[in-house]
Amino acid sequence: MTHRNDSATNRKLTRVSADEMQRIALYPGSFDPLTNGHVNIIERGLSLCDELVVAIVHNPNKAPMFSVEERMEILREVFPDEQRVRLTTFSGLLVNYAREVQANAILRGLRAVADFEYESQMANMNRRLAPEVETVFLMAEPGSFFVSSRLVKEVALLGGDISGSVPPQALARLTAKVKQLQGKRA
Ligand code: ADP
Repeated sequence: MTHRNDSATNRKLTRVSADEMQRIALYPGSFDPLTNGHVNIIERGLSLCDELVVAIVHNPNKAPMFSVEERMEILREVFPDEQRVRLTTFSGLLVNYAREVQANAILRGLRAVADFEYESQMANMNRRLAPEVETVFLMAEPGSFFVSSRLVKEVALLGGDISGSVPPQALARLTAKVKQLQGKRA
């Protein structure tokens, strides 16, 4: 009896062997624009999965500084050769998109306590909606703990130096965008 059960289990395990199982993680965000905090989460997230789907959330109710296309270009410039990073955009319910891309996990970054409340609500709701998709949190690295896209935009608009908080590709776009916006106002 035991022997039969064991071999059935073994067959099952062999069918979905660790080699065949692709671990796909989905990292959703506004990325308006990409910061060093995001880059760090992407780099560390890659050690946890085979493929990381970085998805720009298209939210028609938000007024972003950068269009989805511009945000995508920055991401492409920063990760040009990383085969395991797939760049996409989506709108609608996150768990539906996670199922569409066959993600096993949703990846999120956690900064100060302020992130915790929102993120825990989201993770619990998403678990209720899609129990098979686990939400995984990576703690922000100390150097990016206070970096947010919102703050970076505010400081850039006020003429502050944000070169330590964003990758050079995003810095170039931000500088150009600030000039463009200030030109319009003048
Ligand atoms: P959203 O609009 O969904 O908050 P963001 O682009 O601001 O999108 O962030 C996407 C994800 O990246 C979120 O999980 C956020 O907590 C995380 N994140 C943002 N900035 C940082 C950072 N500096 N360090 C670590 N994680 C971050």
